[in-house]
Amino acid sequence: MPLPDLKPRTARRGEVPSRSDAGEGGRLFGRKHAGRRPGGVVGSGASLGVTLAALTQAARHDLSCACGPSQHRQRGSDGLWIYPAALPSGRRAPMLKVLQASGCERNCAYCAERCGGQGRALCLVPEALASAFLDLHRAGHVAGLFLSSAIQGGAVATMDRMLATAELLRRRHAFRGYIHLKLIPGCQPAQIERAMALATRVSVNMEAPTAAHLARIAPGKDFQAHILSPMRQVADAVAAGHFARGGQTTQLVVGAAGETDREIATAAADGYREMGLARVYYSAMQPVPGTPLAERAATPFLREHRLYQVDFLLRGYGFSLDEIHFDEAGRLPLATDPKTLWAERHPERFPLEINRARPDELLRVPGIGPRSAERLLAMRRRQRLRDIGALRAAGASWKAAAPYLLLDGKPAERQLRLL
Ligand code: SF4
Repeated sequence: MPLPDLKPRTARRGEVPSRSDAGEGGRLFGRKHAGRRPGGVVGSGASLGVTLAALTQAARHDLSCACGPSQHRQRGSDGLWIYPAALPSGRRAPMLKVLQASGCERNCAYCAERCGGQGRALCLVPEALASAFLDLHRAGHVAGLFLSSAIQGGAVATMDRMLATAELLRRRHAFRGYIHLKLIPGCQPAQIERAMALATRVSVNMEAPTAAHLARIAPGKDFQAHILSPMRQVADAVAAGHFARGGQTTQLVVGAAGETDREIATAAADGYREMGLARVYYSAMQPVPGTPLAERAATPFLREHRLYQVDFLLRGYGFSLDEIHFDEAGRLPLATDPKTLWAERHPERFPLEINRARPDELLRVPGIGPRSAERLLAMRRRQRLRDIGALRAAGASWKAAAPYLLLDGKPAERQLRLL
């Protein structure tokens, strides 16, 4: 995919610090970035494409725009990281995921952008970022924007730059597509209001399930003031009908703070119930060179996968948290998925007659999801289901489901053995 011509644009006066603010000694917005090579504030010129590529690469660790781990996460031939992501409508669309700035003044232990990191401290002025995005959009390469940022010059100034970018897209360029804005920890309530007025969806990254865990890995973040309060503000706005679009999402880092799966799942369940979260995303900690966690073993992606499975059970299958099996140490067993584990521990519920089972009972069968359950219900309204082929036709995972079902009074597993 060729990189569209990123035409130089000039920043409006007063929108962002001028290039000279970056200085020669690595100072950006008045703060020294120890250990980082000075980059600068980029508004135009040949370096814009290179800077944009670097800032899209820096954004790839954030999953809150629904470009989950199973999705294609590859850099294109032009150096940009563009991901297919789920929109609030459920449709998937290519998303430009980018940081407004890299090279953070905070010190989160798991983050490649942390103060003292090895990368360059860069910052795109709002006009440059807005016009680069629009060029990509007009060329048909992206449908939406996911915008986050490392913190430079404080949370409020950082959020202001992101809001200015979104404002340009919405107001000056009348862009009506998808914009996801990250709410920077420490930004002001009025900025959150502004973000909700401009964005399709917003997110605050919880990163850890409790205040104690967060303090271990993100010393600059206050769980109540920087995480829960903004989430509550958005939740209240959604409940009052003031932010009726995509709502809010969050992300938790898995395995960075010594937290258990039970603690993560509890935080997610609370978030869905009390904050009305649209989605929770889980990101297995991968050690980043130059961070305090560099020597830590990577969190297995299977652990992240098991948490996503629990998440689906809580959101779409009618499970409650106390029906999820954790071991004594609060871990999800990796060998078996949580739904099969629940079914194995409840032999009194099976086998189920596929022609009589209620919708909620069908959803409890391993291998049957909401869509395949719906299809089975539609199929059995037309005819009695006697053949295991019905499970296949419904899109169910028939090998997983067969041991738990009767087909017109006969164990489905018997047919499975004949195949
Ligand atoms: S505030 Fe965000 S960008 Fe900065 S170090 Fe922490 S996680 Fe990284």
